[in-house]
Amino acid sequence: MISSVMPTYARAPLNFVKGEGSWLIEADGRRFLDLGAGIAVNALGHAHPKLVEALSEQAKALWHVSNLYTISQQQELADKLVDLTFADTVFFTNSGTESCELAVKMARKYWYEKGSPNKVEIIAFEGSFHGRSSAGIAAAGAEKLTKGFGPLLPGFKHLDWKDHDAIEAAIDENTAAIIIEPVQGEGGIRPVPDQCLKGLRELCTAKGLLLIFDEVQCGVGRTGKLFAHEWSGANPDIMMVAKGIGGGFPLGAVLATEDAASGMSAGSHGSTYGGNPLACAVGCAVIDEVSQPEFLDQVRHNGGVLLQGLQSLVAEFPDVFEGVRGQGLMLGLMCKVPNTDVLQAGYDNELITIPAADNVIRLLPALTMDKSEIEEAFVRLRKTAQQCQKAGEESTR
Ligand SMILES: *Cc1c(COP(=O)(O)O)cnc(C)c1O
Repeated sequence: MISSVMPTYARAPLNFVKGEGSWLIEADGRRFLDLGAGIAVNALGHAHPKLVEALSEQAKALWHVSNLYTISQQQELADKLVDLTFADTVFFTNSGTESCELAVKMARKYWYEKGSPNKVEIIAFEGSFHGRSSAGIAAAGAEKLTKGFGPLLPGFKHLDWKDHDAIEAAIDENTAAIIIEPVQGEGGIRPVPDQCLKGLRELCTAKGLLLIFDEVQCGVGRTGKLFAHEWSGANPDIMMVAKGIGGGFPLGAVLATEDAASGMSAGSHGSTYGGNPLACAVGCAVIDEVSQPEFLDQVRHNGGVLLQGLQSLVAEFPDVFEGVRGQGLMLGLMCKVPNTDVLQAGYDNELITIPAADNVIRLLPALTMDKSEIEEAFVRLRKTAQQCQKAGEESTR
């Protein structure tokens, strides 16, 4: 018999009832160190006092009004994002995949309004992830996401981001935009080198294409900059955001330059919930924290400490791990044993990590993680690695 919760996830038998910073407390009282943060969502950890305050204060005043009216919290958050980024304008969504829908719609509408309705094709990349909506799965293109869900939204080409010549060759009179994650998340924490992002920027500028960055996972302080593309100096025309920006409250955004958004006018797009007072009050509190230079310094510093420790761990357990990659607090351990074994051994040691493609284990801790928690992470990661190594030795005996 089908479970009352539709069985679209293979769930671990863990039932967390409380969260405190970097910790998750299971119903049986065990305290798990959370290096997953709800897949890069709980940017400030669980139950951060400033977020609890922002949410409860707003809850007492006004939860929701329609976008038919002025929403001051939304205005405030949009102003902050415009001040802090390349963007001139922001649309708020409730999730990453909705941000993808709008990014795709915006790119197509841009060319339609410019008198080039043929320009609908979007170049996307292998190993990418852009969400589970029809545009999201078509953009990512992997069979794992699309199989059985056809007919797919047409107009996407999938290339290897390392092959600049192939990208250039794929551009024709129908190309509207290029979409890329500056650091692939689901794909296995694969950072796109700065020179590739710069190269794509130059290519888009030269060919008059729109460049879309999907920063749903790598944005909002995760890599030690407010947005990951800042490392490269290459700005997009359109940027998708979600996950961390709500700190756990469902909130997403699409940021754009004035030109890229020039096709969007009253009635061209909408959302019932997107940018409501409750979500934006929380979003403002998240951005106020994460955008502080000292906060981002700390993320970079802790990211460096974590990276170094992971490198030693890889050296110590060469039969379990192959290497480590990523930036800031978005790190991936490439595994030699199945990554699901590492995940499981982590659970046994009260440690939460997140699997990704390419046999990688992702570490996406709360950006507020402190020194003692980093030390504790190494203790538990070491135990986890020892357990995997022992299991490997027993199976080859
Ligand atoms: C998670 C993710 C999405 C989809 O976000 P949802 O909120 O699950 O719809 C899109 N792009 C990237 C890069 C993501 O990591």
